[in-house]
Amino acid sequence: MGRGIQTQPCSQFLVPLQFPLMSSLFNLLGPRKAFDGGLFLPDHKSVTSRRAVELLRVDGPLHVPLTVRQDLKTEPNVRVGDRVLKGERLSNSTSHESIATHAPTSGKIVELSRAWTTQDGYLPCAVLEPDGREEALPQHQGWEDESLIVQLAEHGVMCSEPRAPLHSVIKEAVAAGVTDLIVNAMETEPYLTADLRMLVEEHGRIIDVTCELADALGVSRAILALPFRHRRVVKRMEAEAHGRYVEIAAMANPYPQCQPLVLVKALLDCEIAPGGRVLDKGVIVLPLAAVVQAAEALLDDRPITHTVMTVAGDAVERAGTYRVAIGTPMRHLAERVGLVGRVAKAVCGGPLTGLAMGHEEAVVTATTKALLLFSETEPSIPVPCIHCGWCVEDCPVGIDPPSLMQLESKPNCTNLEMSHLKACLDCGLCSYVCPAQLPLGETIHRTRTRFEQQREPACLT
Ligand code: SF4
Ligand code: SF4
Repeated sequence: MGRGIQTQPCSQFLVPLQFPLMSSLFNLLGPRKAFDGGLFLPDHKSVTSRRAVELLRVDGPLHVPLTVRQDLKTEPNVRVGDRVLKGERLSNSTSHESIATHAPTSGKIVELSRAWTTQDGYLPCAVLEPDGREEALPQHQGWEDESLIVQLAEHGVMCSEPRAPLHSVIKEAVAAGVTDLIVNAMETEPYLTADLRMLVEEHGRIIDVTCELADALGVSRAILALPFRHRRVVKRMEAEAHGRYVEIAAMANPYPQCQPLVLVKALLDCEIAPGGRVLDKGVIVLPLAAVVQAAEALLDDRPITHTVMTVAGDAVERAGTYRVAIGTPMRHLAERVGLVGRVAKAVCGGPLTGLAMGHEEAVVTATTKALLLFSETEPSIPVPCIHCGWCVEDCPVGIDPPSLMQLESKPNCTNLEMSHLKACLDCGLCSYVCPAQLPLGETIHRTRTRFEQQREPACLT
């Protein structure tokens, strides 16, 4: 099968899409195909998807992490007692891979401490007491003549998947000689609506910056993938992309069509070996949030100080999509949107792939995409497998979750078993569908991490 984009009903008559007009024609005919497996989940988006993004200011100090990932070192650029302006650097990168961090507002540094983040645990942070004046640095600081890579790094643009600074993701893609850029706006997980709101509110900028990124990457094709069911948004994006070098791909959206490997398989009909990377197939997939952050850095010349995230769940009074300062304590964020009764469960991210908040002092980071608060937790009482086969049927990569779960009790694994463990996308769908309530996805993730930590000597051939 060639690498052109195929449609479901009549692929043999069609050539790869090259022009927006043809893209519109395909989208009129129906959504492009999905992968085998997956599930259409109840979406719980009706309230938040209709509300415009709102800037949410929270009283009290911000605990702004001084780095974006545990292993990416930076050095503080401020001392206790310093007054900083909005956008001023709080830390400097100390390697080509790390990025600087910036003050989300003006105020005084009252402490250099550490902040809890759900993905990295404790990170060094600067505690910033806002002065309420929102005084910003003058916008142009001499970066305008720099390359796109330098601008992304200087402005601290982060990508959530792969979770790395965007400039290093792009450098790696250029080195790998990618030919296709896919901007991933599928957002098929329930509750999440930040991508949809950004498509509605920033449509022109998204196309503009996608063209810039495509240019820097040197790709021959740029595709924006979004759910077919948001037809008005699809039409708007098609109009915006008309005459530009960006194709609009309106896709069916069973979960987890949003996973990069699954998306590439469905969109380009391209098989990726277990544990393989989309880069190896000449494709780079960027989440929409990273593209929107890139627009802020490249088009507005502004450092990244806020993130756009969904706050929802039945314990939330004013569910919506909010623009929130990096370093905002989640607890204060929850108080600000209002709570309905007690919170029994707090999740950072989507309900299937997110992480339990883990610590009541957790703060918002550049890659936080949601805070979900629920008033009840469903009691999980696992029983033995009843061999219904649902987990195998719905697994997007066609692996057998129960057999992988059994590896948990083994001291080591074979290379074949390891490759199956690595093929798992951590989408959590098997756990979701399992009538026996077995924690399949979580167990596979834990088992893979253990074997990876044991490294090669633990694997038998
Ligand atoms: S978590 Fe892994 S095993 Fe379970 S459905 Fe997703 S990809 Fe398949
Ligand atoms: S879904 Fe659960 S009960 Fe059904 S086969 Fe898979 S593990 Fe067994």
